[in-house]
Formats: sequence, structure tokens, C-alpha cells
Amino acid sequence: MEHTDLGPLRVSRVGLGCNNFGGRLDLAATRRVVEAALDAGVNLLDTADIYGNRGGSERLLGELLQGRRDRVVLATKFGGEMGDGAVGGAPAYVVQAAEASLRRLQTDHIDLLYHHFPDDATPIADTVGAVSELVAAGKVRAIGVSNVTADGLAEAAATAEIAAVQNEYSLLAREAERDLLPACLELGVGFVPYFPLASGFLTGKYRPGQAAEGSRLGTVEEGASVTRRASASFATIERLQRFAEAQGHSLLELAIAGLASRPGVASVIAGATKPDQVRANAAAGDWQLTAGQLAELDAIG
Ligand code: NAP
Repeated sequence: MEHTDLGPLRVSRVGLGCNNFGGRLDLAATRRVVEAALDAGVNLLDTADIYGNRGGSERLLGELLQGRRDRVVLATKFGGEMGDGAVGGAPAYVVQAAEASLRRLQTDHIDLLYHHFPDDATPIADTVGAVSELVAAGKVRAIGVSNVTADGLAEAAATAEIAAVQNEYSLLAREAERDLLPACLELGVGFVPYFPLASGFLTGKYRPGQAAEGSRLGTVEEGASVTRRASASFATIERLQRFAEAQGHSLLELAIAGLASRPGVASVIAGATKPDQVRANAAAGDWQLTAGQLAELDAIG
């Protein structure tokens, strides 16, 4: 597994999205996925305070990482609705939310703390300013922002050292390539794509008109409504699959490596519910697309 710099952190090119933990996955199932990830060389674990029915993902990770906390780069997020009425990026709440995450994660520091969603009530500069104080206090190592525009990123970066941006980006949702990825490159901020597999659509397991039982989206119809991907996406998926196969790779490998090979992308955090998935996702990161292959990919998307 290759590693890249993300601010002061060194992260695996493929990370693990942890939003299934504490919700669809209980402790035993989470343990199997996390151990498969660590064995495959994945060190970036991406969670959030709200994942797993508010706190469940962080709690399970806290339990599972006892005695091996230093093996991972632990990223979490604040600002979503935790059910206590508090929400957003107000400075006092930032401190309260971070302390609560530290308790659930059973650790004395968070490696990467993201502001999860832009907050209309608080200037982003005030929010990241509050996270900077947590960095100065040694409770946080690096600052991230998520679901931002290029302007929002610029505003945040004018106030604090921003290590990472996390926004949606997959071969079916390429808006980030327009403004945000160039802004990341200009500012030296690492881009971490979320929904890299379009919730599983880019693994090839969803086919038009066929149910995919046991999978997150259940049926294609349900999936299409959940992800707002019209069935027209299948035409793009087929083109992507043909391109991948012509290079001797699978659609899944293209979905991950096609992002990881893009300049500015630091780590691709695919979610997983089974050890085999996480092993396949980690191995997909071994493929480095050439500039020529990336240009061909641009012509498909
Ligand atoms: P994703 O990575 O696009 O898709 C993950 C799903 O794809 C898994 O739950 C699994 O579905 C399926 N899958 C994964 N690997 C597979 C494989 N090798 N073969 C077949 N199926 C496979 O979506 P995501 O997990 O929602 O997003 C990734 C991470 O991004 C999250 O875990 C979270 O950390 C982060 N995220 C951040 C935000 C934000 O606002 N910042 C928003 C969303 C997500 P099954 O359940 O069907 O097995």
C-alpha cells in the first residue's frame, strides 16, 4: 500500500469509510472489517460523530483500537445533528463536540478533525479558528473541512492550516474536478473523495432491473432513489467497465484507482461491510493510471 502526505499526516492511498459501523454492522462485524483493513495496509479510518446512530461508529472504533491506536490515522467530524439540540460550527460547540468524540474514541487526540457541513450561522473562519486552538492544545493534529465550495475552502484556508477537504467525488459524480480539486492543488490541501463507489454502484453489483439482496441499496429502484442516480448511470457504468477491462482491470479497480491517480487526491475512503470488500478496495489502489489513461477516462465521464 502506498502512502501520501495529508498535511502533517501520512495516510494510505486507500482509506476505510466507517459509516456502516454501529449501524448496519455490530461490534463483531466491525472488528472483521477493521482487521482486514489493517492487514491490507490501510491506516486511514474515516468516521464522524453522527455515524452509527449518533456516536456508534466512534464508540466501536474506540473499543477496537485499544492497544493499537498508534497504527491508525483517525479522522472524525463534528457539526451534524447529535440529538442534543447543539449543531453546527459555533466555537464553543466545536470544543464540546471534540471532547465528546475523544471520549467515545477513547483517545487523547484526533488525527484529523473535519467540520462536517457548512454552517450558515457561523463564518467558517470562526469554526476552523476554534479547531486551530484544539491543534495548539495537542488534542487535534490536523484540520479538515467537508462539503465545501472552492470559496468556502479559500475562506477557511485564509484563517487556519487546512490539511484536507472531503467532498463527494466518484466517476459518476465528477463536479469536484471543476473548481474544488484545482483549488486544493493550488492551496496544497489534500482532497479525500467520499462516496467513491457511488454507494456500491461502481462495484458492478447493481444491474438494471435486478435486485442486489443484502447490499446497501437492496434493489436497483431503491438504489436509484437513494442515490438520486437515474438508471442512465448504467450507460456510463458500462462504458467505464469496458474501459477498465481493456486495461486489464475491473470496474471496482477503476472506481478507486481512477480517483487515487488524480493529482490532488490524497486517499480514497471507500466504505465496506465485509472483509473481502475491504481487501479488494485496498488492492485496487495498487493501480496507478497514467496521464494518458486519465485523459481517456475524462472522455468517458
Ligand atoms: P461508498 O464508499 O461509495 O460505498 C460503500 C458501499 O459500497 C459499502 O457499504 C458496500 O455496500 C459497497 N462496497 C464497498 N466495497 C465493495 C466491494 N469491494 N465490492 C462490492 N461492494 C462494495 O460509500 P460510503 O461508504 O457511504 O462512503 C465512503 C465514506 O465516505 C463513508 O464511510 C464515510 O466515511 C464518508 N462519507 C462522508 C460524507 C461527508 O459528508 N463528509 C458523506 C458520506 C460518506 P454494501 O453495504 O452493499 O455491502
